Amino acid sequence: MSLRYAKRMDNIKASEIRELLKLTQKPEVISFAGGLPAPELFPVEELKKVSLKVSDEQGTAALQYGPTEGYEPLREQITKRMEKIGVKAKPENILVTSGSQQGLDFSAKIFINPGDIILCESPSYMGAINAFKAYEPKFIGVPTDEDGMIMEELEDILKNNDRVRFIYVIPDFQNPSGRTWSIERRKRLIELANEYNIAIVEDNPYGELRFEGEYYPSVKHYDTEGRVIFLGTFSKIFCPGLRLGWVYAEKEVLNKYVLAKQGSDLQSSTISQMQIAKFLEEYDIEKHIEKLKEVYKNRRDIMINTMKEEFPEEVKFTNPQGGLFTWVVLPEYMNARDLAVKALEKNVAFVPGGSFFPNGGNENTLRLNYSNMDEEKIKIGIKRLADAIKDMMKE
Ligand code: PMP
Repeated sequence: MSLRYAKRMDNIKASEIRELLKLTQKPEVISFAGGLPAPELFPVEELKKVSLKVSDEQGTAALQYGPTEGYEPLREQITKRMEKIGVKAKPENILVTSGSQQGLDFSAKIFINPGDIILCESPSYMGAINAFKAYEPKFIGVPTDEDGMIMEELEDILKNNDRVRFIYVIPDFQNPSGRTWSIERRKRLIELANEYNIAIVEDNPYGELRFEGEYYPSVKHYDTEGRVIFLGTFSKIFCPGLRLGWVYAEKEVLNKYVLAKQGSDLQSSTISQMQIAKFLEEYDIEKHIEKLKEVYKNRRDIMINTMKEEFPEEVKFTNPQGGLFTWVVLPEYMNARDLAVKALEKNVAFVPGGSFFPNGGNENTLRLNYSNMDEEKIKIGIKRLADAIKDMMKE
């Protein structure tokens, strides 16, 4: 049977990561595939206590509908997160969303008519590309280097394309590359967006997870005309299961997101918002983030050092100063999708990099996550992966 589906579904494929995650559920597989935080660091006991408190103290309100914009004390708490990345935020500029993923979906819903252009980094976050695709945009991937998007390339594209609606960026510890934009690039991005009157969607789930080096202010910090829409989330600094994130934008822009939210799900879960707000009130999230950083830094070190020891010299990789991912570039003749099959035979998984490029290509790249496996498993998994790479090189 084939029902009469909308044309927009033609372009949408199952997320390769989510498909791969199904295969990696087997206990013998060491998985560097997902972007999953370390489950052993989730504050389960604390959440149990705050959940009970919320039910005791706010029982009926917690089970009731609430405002679309979000639970007021949580919006207040989110202003503190924004302060950490250099933005003096007011609660009225915040909309609580169901993860930042919902903010991505809304961004395309609000800005994109079929055929309009979205500019993104090349590579960029696959989940965003897939969310945007439902609105039938064209993508132009802007080339990147160690310091982020290359501004001369961006300017050239802006000059030659009048249907660009927004520029989508992940400036801190990017998914998938692990790279961070320099301050100069952040400033220049704003200048160009101002000159060409383009919105910027800044997606920042990892900014607070810097384990070394200096914190950079967010792109929003440099925004002079209110054209940056900032997407934040509790997924990586707290836990993804509650599905809570936020949009921070100028009032006029935020109102569009509020309308999108009303049509989509009216509001995010009242009880989840109350639980997280209570947690933030009663516990020290800064201390929790410090702990995450310590553990993730060690895991990154083990992964990078083992790759240095085990990978053939021709294989290159990034050494991120924070976040959850490193990006590997194989020699050009190698295909990471073929390697993924071979690696899975050796019980190690990763995500091939090709799907992070909206217009394809770059099949010799792959993404590795280091937050979800313990140090011993990282060592063993990288050795297995190195074996798979060497096997393929011999063929
Ligand atoms: N943006 C980026 C860059 C991500 O890596 C992720 C999660 N992997 C998300 C958005 C979505 O996160 P969430 O919806 O859990 O906030």
